[in-house]
Amino acid sequence: MKIMKFGGTSVGKPERMHQVKDLITRDSEKKIVVLSALSGTTNALVGIGEALAEANKDLAKERIDILHEHYLKFYKDLLKTETARVKAEKIIKEHFEFLNIILKISFNEAINRDILAQGELLSTKLFYTLLQELDIPAVFLPALDFMSIDENSEPELKKIAEKVKAILANYPNDRIFVTQGYICKNHRNEVDNLKRGGSDYSASLIGAAVNAEVVEIWTDIDGMHNNDPRVVDKTRPIAQLSFDEAAELAYFGAKILHPASIWPAQMYNIPVKLLNTMEPEAAGTTITAKEQGTGVKALAAKDGITAIKIKSSRMLLAYGFLRKVFEVFEKYKTSIDMITTSEVAVSVTIDDLSHLEDIVKELEAYGIVEIDNNQTIISVVGNMIAESRGTLAKIMNSLADFPVRMVSYGGSRHNVSLLVDAKYKNDALKSLNNGLFEW
Ligand code: ASP
Ligand code: MG
Repeated sequence: MKIMKFGGTSVGKPERMHQVKDLITRDSEKKIVVLSALSGTTNALVGIGEALAEANKDLAKERIDILHEHYLKFYKDLLKTETARVKAEKIIKEHFEFLNIILKISFNEAINRDILAQGELLSTKLFYTLLQELDIPAVFLPALDFMSIDENSEPELKKIAEKVKAILANYPNDRIFVTQGYICKNHRNEVDNLKRGGSDYSASLIGAAVNAEVVEIWTDIDGMHNNDPRVVDKTRPIAQLSFDEAAELAYFGAKILHPASIWPAQMYNIPVKLLNTMEPEAAGTTITAKEQGTGVKALAAKDGITAIKIKSSRMLLAYGFLRKVFEVFEKYKTSIDMITTSEVAVSVTIDDLSHLEDIVKELEAYGIVEIDNNQTIISVVGNMIAESRGTLAKIMNSLADFPVRMVSYGGSRHNVSLLVDAKYKNDALKSLNNGLFEW
């Protein structure tokens, strides 16, 4: 069994959906096909929810109608036969009637999540209709029948696995299964989701649940690149990464993969491949447990970081100081990305500023607190970075012209993190690109 997940751009146009059909029928392997919503749909649904949250029903209605138009055009380009078109019309009617009914009832968060779920429901149903039209045997698997999260919004992998296996057992001879990414049920049995970009996470959870041979993530770029193509001129795809390296890159800014999607694959040792729908023969990136090569493989950058320094002479020779500091962050459920310490001070970074004021107030009990906003973490990712001769020197030389606020190495052998003011980010990435890679 393999998992093939297709993102929004891979299903966003009728001709792309046909390409997806070609890709899933190239071999006779058993596969679960996980689809995102058509590109732009989830954003549109977010917009509808926002309009309703502000009680602006006219705006919500306008946004529903625009989206509706899009689907009415889409299915006509997707499907040729009368039978299939009638089916698609019914599907679209059902989902847009639902959205229009919501206009009439009072809005709440649970309803908002129902709205957000419409995108994946529509894309999978329309795709399934295409398979039916072409007489391609397939089974439609509603994700809401097996995907679930607990009260902390964490996926319930054990339950998911039991349910998926029980459902699949009903179809011993079928080879293609189609399901939704992103959507799930929560502990109150309401429709919920795995957060934006969560379809990758769905795919790897399903992969873990069925112990898949491979989880293929099909997007519109040929794998994870060694630097941010939006910032530097030259980048290239990275052929191989370990789970740890991929997790660092995904977390620290490589937009191609949802960071949470690494752990289920890593836990069950299932290779993850990042592939390009538009260029299916390209090698893409393969992520496995194997740690290969030495030295730097890629750079990523994460914006919107705030650095907090706590300086205290009481830290000198004291134990328990760091615990007290960390407890403040724990109390406000704020996660820390980078940490550096000296004997009299500690600096940490956070990206969630919702409790910054409270955090600072409490930290002031332990020392002088200083804040630096608008910082960027540049993450240099690879294998055995410090063991590879000259690499640390090259990193530092490349950054010679920029004030570096924090440096962190040694937490793992896969990552050197550097904190710079956001205004230096682009130039720092360019300079590192020239200094670290052979072009
Ligand atoms: N459709 C959802 C989103 O746009 C989930 C996904 O595509 O991964 O965030
Ligand atoms: Mg995505």
